[in-house]
Amino acid sequence: MWHELYGRLQAWLDRTRIWRLTYRGIRVTDVPDRLKTGKIYLVGDDGYVWSAAMLCPGGCGKTLEMNLLPDAQPVWTVTEDANNRITLQPSVWLKTDCECHFILREGRIHWA
Ligand SMILES: [Zn+2]
Repeated sequence: MWHELYGRLQAWLDRTRIWRLTYRGIRVTDVPDRLKTGKIYLVGDDGYVWSAAMLCPGGCGKTLEMNLLPDAQPVWTVTEDANNRITLQPSVWLKTDCECHFILREGRIHWA
């Protein structure tokens, strides 16, 4: 409950640019049940990463999962700089729910 409210508050602050979050990569073998804002969960094993998961930055509480495997569509590419700041290409567009459309570049959300 508090976790969820806190996540929504962070998302709102980020969206209104009062307090910008930096999204950093974290390596996991499975998507955790509870995601934290400001984290990009890079799901994989043995040096392979096949998907990226994050809490929707729009604050709806939905888990977004982006496929990183080139033989499936749609597909995204993830790059991580020396400070673990994530760049995700192309943009993420939720056609349902909160209809978020954003670009994640160098750890920052840019609303489209
Ligand atoms: Zn959302």
